[in-house]
Amino acid sequence: MKKSTVKRIQKERAAAPKGKRSIGSGLLIMLVILISAVLVSSGLVMVFNYSSQINQEAGIVGLRYSGEMIDHLSKAVKAYLEKSEQMAKYIAASGTEEEFDVRIRNVGSQYGVENLRLRYFKDSVEHRVSGAIFNTELESKSVLELARRRTTACAGIVSDQEINPNGVAFCVALDGCAYADVIVFFYFPVFDVVAFPPESLNEEIFADSRLTCVASGEGEIINILSQKDMGLYEHANIYENLRAQVNDKSIIDGMKSAVYDSTSQVFQADISNERHVICVSSLTEGGSAPFAVISVYRAEDLHGTGYSTVRTVLSVIMIFAALLLVLVVTNVVGRIRARRQLAQMHDTDPVLDCPTRIKFERVAGEILSRNKATAFAVVTVNLKHFNYINDQMGGETVTQILLHLKMLYSRMMQLDETYGYLGDGRFALLMHYRDFKMIEDKLKSVCQLASGYNARLPAGYHITLYGGIYRTQTSIVSDVGKMVDLAIDAEGSLNFPYDFGSFRIYNDKIHASHAQAEYIEVHMESALRNHEFQVFYQPKYNIGNDAPDGCEALVRWYNPEKDEYMQPGVFIPLFEANRFIVKLDRYVYEQVCIYIEEAASRGQRLYPVSVNVSRISAMEGDFLSYYINIKNKHNIANGFLTLEFTESFAYEDYDMLREIVNTLHKNGFKCSIDDFGTGYSSYSILKQLPMDEIKLDRFFLEQGLTPDRDMKVLTSVINVARELNMKVTQEGVETLDQLEMLKKLGCHVIQGYHYSSPLRLSDYIEFIDRKSHNVDFVTRGRE
Ligand code: C2E
Ligand code: CA
Ligand code: CA
Repeated sequence: MKKSTVKRIQKERAAAPKGKRSIGSGLLIMLVILISAVLVSSGLVMVFNYSSQINQEAGIVGLRYSGEMIDHLSKAVKAYLEKSEQMAKYIAASGTEEEFDVRIRNVGSQYGVENLRLRYFKDSVEHRVSGAIFNTELESKSVLELARRRTTACAGIVSDQEINPNGVAFCVALDGCAYADVIVFFYFPVFDVVAFPPESLNEEIFADSRLTCVASGEGEIINILSQKDMGLYEHANIYENLRAQVNDKSIIDGMKSAVYDSTSQVFQADISNERHVICVSSLTEGGSAPFAVISVYRAEDLHGTGYSTVRTVLSVIMIFAALLLVLVVTNVVGRIRARRQLAQMHDTDPVLDCPTRIKFERVAGEILSRNKATAFAVVTVNLKHFNYINDQMGGETVTQILLHLKMLYSRMMQLDETYGYLGDGRFALLMHYRDFKMIEDKLKSVCQLASGYNARLPAGYHITLYGGIYRTQTSIVSDVGKMVDLAIDAEGSLNFPYDFGSFRIYNDKIHASHAQAEYIEVHMESALRNHEFQVFYQPKYNIGNDAPDGCEALVRWYNPEKDEYMQPGVFIPLFEANRFIVKLDRYVYEQVCIYIEEAASRGQRLYPVSVNVSRISAMEGDFLSYYINIKNKHNIANGFLTLEFTESFAYEDYDMLREIVNTLHKNGFKCSIDDFGTGYSSYSILKQLPMDEIKLDRFFLEQGLTPDRDMKVLTSVINVARELNMKVTQEGVETLDQLEMLKKLGCHVIQGYHYSSPLRLSDYIEFIDRKSHNVDFVTRGRE
């Protein structure tokens, strides 16, 4: 990864605060929850209000029913009382005791009353119809009370050993009867008195009720008048039944006192979570043994439509709320899951199944903070020519190589060490050491082991590893991310020698060089405006003609404050990373055009000038039109401008470069392939790209002329180029020996300190004038 890429990633990481993306949707969820909460609560309030209103209305209906029931009961009781009084009158009218005996025995059949029993009191002694004395201990208290007070009234529901089932007792006091003071009439069963179905009653009273029964004051169910699917009559006692079922037990006492107070009352309570209305219609008619009709209704039945509306509204609200809830829950769950997946993805490289940079930094951070006293090294290890291998051999091969490397690194790890994949063929390792030599040895051996994979690669390719090292004890940096960046800085600091193998340890000088990089980036724009970039011209020598063969324009950055030049090797790589190279290349190019135009107009001696074009510049959309326009603008004759493209550009964007070269040729440019031999030079590039010149890198000379092999390579390259009618230029020729050797091999042109170093324009002009003594022609610009 280039430095710029690293920086970009860092910037992106810094620019994307973790939770930011989720804030928008988080707000939305909050809003949905809020809206549903408001909806549900207002709906509930509405329903609550409405249902309490409906409960009230149901209570009113119940009260009305109770009123009707009381009316009915009173009438029935009154009718029986009147009948009893008539019969009593008839009995009292007996002239003799015998007549009394007869009348009291057959008064029932006389008045058409079935199931009638009689007893009578004479001087506070109770007698049977036969005249036999009745044991008053068996008599009901209410009867005794009425008899004692000589009151005519209903004594309520009574049961004694003789009257079975329960009956309703009436006492009638007799005036002036010699044989009895009070007659007690028992009508049974009770049903006869409290006659049902009572036609006079509203049918709904029964139709709606879940249970209607006649009960004694103590709650004993005497008679069930109407019943539905309700367990209310399971017990013989209505109070017990209700006590077992209602939510509010206090209503039982209320019901009891209502019965004894002889009133009609309505109670409300929940039975199985449903609102119920309980109506008590009590009747004692002066007796002390009250009885009552008790009806239990579902409030809903008393107010059907309202209830179902409420229920519909309620269920709609509930469904809506439930849906919203489901929505929110699924959303939240989905989010959590996605976040987890994302976290997992962040943590593990999916292809290599290896910790990512994020995880590496986290784990390494933890290890470092646990082991403050230990010396650690953060190492970055790169696969050399990662992009090239990727292009040439395909992603699958690269993946296999990386998996192999991952395996080596992971095996190397000891306790409290970790590793991760940073991307683009680069791994990071955190290793501890007592003696730094340990790290050196480990890395050397891993490089050796890695080359074991070469056998599986196409012939000629070797796995080469290189990297940077940051030693934790050398500075106060505590952020692992920063340490990784510094290790990467070290590996990319080409101006510094390797410390061992192809590894470079981060140091103060590298730091300074990075500080310089920062300075460069800050000042480049103003430097361009202030013409601090100056073009130098390095003359080229044509061996065959023994004369100048043009020159190469090379840029330098002049610092007026320090009065010194900065070499392009320092700033060009930075400008390629930040794309400022596009501006700089165009500036240099136009300076060259201005020089040629002026020289031509002044009729000065003039040779073609080669101008470097970075790959980044050539990739610009308007590259061709710009260069052609400027050439035309300055009236540059064809053949005076050569553009140099690097060999790496040729293999990375081969098709594009061929297009470019063709168009440039059509517009009078010459094209040169620069730095040949530094990359993966292949003869096919030579054969297929219609280049005018090939510039052999200094590397051909550096390798030393000794080994036969190198010599053979150089010879064959020169021969191929010559065959293809390309001019062969050797760069970096420093000695006469080199020149002689190249001459023998048939190299056309040399460039290097042996002939001349790069010169200021004025010096260059002077130089070519001086050197052109044997040139029998003067090259002039277009007239
Ligand atoms: P390059 O295009 O390969 O240029 C040749 C480099 O070799 C120059 O380095 C030159 O000064 C150096 N050189 C010439 N003769 C000798 C010699 O005998 N011995 C040694 N050791 N070196 C010699 P320089 O000027 O520092 O430029 C370095 C690189 O910067 C150039 O390499 C070129 O790639 C780049 N560069 C320079 N100017 C420009 C420019 O205007 N645009 C672009 N894109 N790149 C430029
Ligand atoms: Ca060049
Ligand atoms: Ca070169």
